[in-house]
Amino acid sequence: MKIILLGAPGVGKGTQAKLLSKKYHIPHLSTGEILRDFVANSRSRLAHDTKETIDQGRLVGDDLIIQIIQDRIQQDDCKQGFILDGFPRTLVQAKMLDELIYKQHRDVILVINIDVSMEDIVKRISGRFSCRKCGKVYNHYLLPPTIQGICNECGSTDFIKREDDNEEVIRNRVAVYKEYTAPVLEYYRTKANFYNIDGRGDVNQIADKINLQVLRHQNIKEAAKEM
Ligand code: AMP
Repeated sequence: MKIILLGAPGVGKGTQAKLLSKKYHIPHLSTGEILRDFVANSRSRLAHDTKETIDQGRLVGDDLIIQIIQDRIQQDDCKQGFILDGFPRTLVQAKMLDELIYKQHRDVILVINIDVSMEDIVKRISGRFSCRKCGKVYNHYLLPPTIQGICNECGSTDFIKREDDNEEVIRNRVAVYKEYTAPVLEYYRTKANFYNIDGRGDVNQIADKINLQVLRHQNIKEAAKEM
């Protein structure tokens, strides 16, 4: 199964992608995480420039991102499928992905958009932080740890905030989303494999809504095979 999770920054794509990855045993591919790892582990000029782009809330060039995704989805662990989080973010990326998936897998991709109002987005991103040790993501307003200051998953007391989760950069990222990524949503909206999810509610409620659509999609695929 191949899934694209769409949605503005901060809607909870990463959290939902991790849950789906566990449930369906397919890898979670986050282009943001791949880029942050690259920046943290390389001293190259490209890594330096990429960090600057991310820190300003702009988009990294299509060529680099497409190369990253192309290489990643050819790896063995992606044979049974994958979940894309943060990709595609431009029309060029979306069209290239369609071509790649169809050419390599002769398959369609399930597209799920997590829909949240723009006012909520800023709150969600500005409140976001994560555990430095295990990466579990929290939110000051919406999803704090059960015991304040202690990670639910691993017990660590060491938390970090992403450098690009500050107010000025958030405004930039939302503007970039509206200009470049909103058209991607329109590109998929009219296709049969597109599902829109109301992103209000807690993590489990949203996960339930997503799982319902995944099951519906699987049933449709099974029924089509039998015809
Ligand atoms: P994310 O973790 O998905 O919010 O991504 C963090 C940052 O990485 C974004 O603000 C962009 O600068 C960069 N990035 C991630 N995915 C993409 C993509 N598909 N295209 C261009 N830039 C990206």
